[in-house]
Amino acid sequence: MRTVDSDVVVIGAGPSGLTAARELKKAGHSVTVLEARNRVGGRTHTDIIDGAMLEVGGQWVSPDQTALIGLLEELGLETYSRYRKGESVYIGTDGKAQRYTGEMFPVSRRTAGEMSRLIDLLDLLVWQTDPKAPWEHPQARELDTISFHHWLRQQSDDEEACNNIGLFIAGGMLTKPAHSFSALQAVLMAASAGSFSHLVDEDFILDKRVVGGMQSLSERMAADLGEEHVLLDNPVRTLRWSTDGDGRTQVTAISDSVTVNARFAVMAVPPNLYSRVSYEPALPRRQHQMHQHQSLGLVIKVHAVYKSPFWRRDGLSGTGFSPGSIVQEVYDNTNHDDPRGTIVGFISDEKADAMFALEPEERRQRILESIAGFLGKKALEPEVYYESDWASEEWTRGAYASSYDLGGLSRYGPDQRTPVGPIHWSCSDIAAEGYQHVDGAIRMGQATARAITSALAAQAAVTVG
Ligand SMILES: Cc1cc2nc3c(=O)[nH]c(=O)nc-3n(C[C@H](O)[C@H](O)[C@H](O)COP(=O)(O)OP(=O)(O)OC[C@H]3O[C@@H](n4cnc5c(N)ncnc54)[C@H](O)[C@@H]3O)c2cc1C
Repeated sequence: MRTVDSDVVVIGAGPSGLTAARELKKAGHSVTVLEARNRVGGRTHTDIIDGAMLEVGGQWVSPDQTALIGLLEELGLETYSRYRKGESVYIGTDGKAQRYTGEMFPVSRRTAGEMSRLIDLLDLLVWQTDPKAPWEHPQARELDTISFHHWLRQQSDDEEACNNIGLFIAGGMLTKPAHSFSALQAVLMAASAGSFSHLVDEDFILDKRVVGGMQSLSERMAADLGEEHVLLDNPVRTLRWSTDGDGRTQVTAISDSVTVNARFAVMAVPPNLYSRVSYEPALPRRQHQMHQHQSLGLVIKVHAVYKSPFWRRDGLSGTGFSPGSIVQEVYDNTNHDDPRGTIVGFISDEKADAMFALEPEERRQRILESIAGFLGKKALEPEVYYESDWASEEWTRGAYASSYDLGGLSRYGPDQRTPVGPIHWSCSDIAAEGYQHVDGAIRMGQATARAITSALAAQAAVTVG
């Protein structure tokens, strides 16, 4: 077993851990990053599958994500716009595909009115909410103890409007059924993106992609840190920690082949994995309880690559929505400068359960038929077909990110970022702005590095004094 001494040990080489490590290095501290997988990037993974470059994990950038945009610029990475010319497709309760342009689905005038009213109501709640502290909203407890599903139905008796608005947060973002998380959790999701209107505007929320793929952000940061400081295939099993009477901290991270002795540790992994590590001494009661109320959603990201983007010739943008279909959203995901055409689709929560219960061939057939419902029969025969299955990955276990169960956000949220002795928590799952997104992971990494830099300075002052 090798032993390394560093000022800080970072557990997890996803965007958050690597940002924290980079910022700490810039501030003059020594850092060692321990990563369980044999690659960096965490929930961002750009892979070549059957000759096609696919974004298996996180990929899109929106204009409000200024921390991500700033880091991309700093690292010299370029972005390009998602293809969005042409008409979109909506499949409503009657099961018929209808073409439309603009943001509002082609629903009845009454349903459109109810959808607009619900969007306004949610925008008002977002306007009253600080994404850093949604639990401080005057009605936080009330909003956190009702499911988003039931909250929507308290506001409107139009089932199609409720389902459509529910889709943007439930299937589209938290990837959990709308009955399983609170209205406050939905408000946080919208507040973290600036407004609910932003979430329903796919031109905003799915604006740009990174040339070469989102994982290259992490690869560049890891390369800057140097491979001797980013140790792959090293899942951390144990964290031994202490704080002495003068407030001086010590932590030892033990992985399979390395032991790192440091002053501070950054746990840059999603909350559902905190308990994969043994803490000596054990974490406080509050953390033990809190971590049991945070869980990841479930979504299958499906990639279908065709000889050409055939839908464009039919005047379609490749965008489609249907709350009732197996695949509830599709988008043109053709790569920068690629003659082939790629469609990406999403199958969330209980629909994903149903699909995973099928044999792979039948699942593929059902999913492609669902995509063909938006784009026509040509969609049935892709050259490359791939399902991103993050729930099967030991070091993630779901997608996209974690959220609280009913009542959990207002009950535990105020403590979710509080360090325990030398252990700081840093991931997109506990971010405010950019919550659940790469942007939030970066913001958390930056904030954690600032907090540790101040704490190291304070401890140095005590030692000198
Ligand atoms: C399918 C999918 C699509 C997404 N789409 C988007 C999108 O379009 N735009 C967007 O901004 N975001 C998107 N996201 C979310 C985004 O990818 C995440 O929010 C982001 O990657 C979180 O970064 P992180 O560093 O906080 O955590 P992670 O990326 O999860 O990194 C955590 C790292 O910790 C490692 N680890 C875990 N346990 C241990 C241990 N015990 N020891 C050592 N290492 C450990 C893991 O292997 C991992 O590398 C998507 C995610 C998925 C899965």
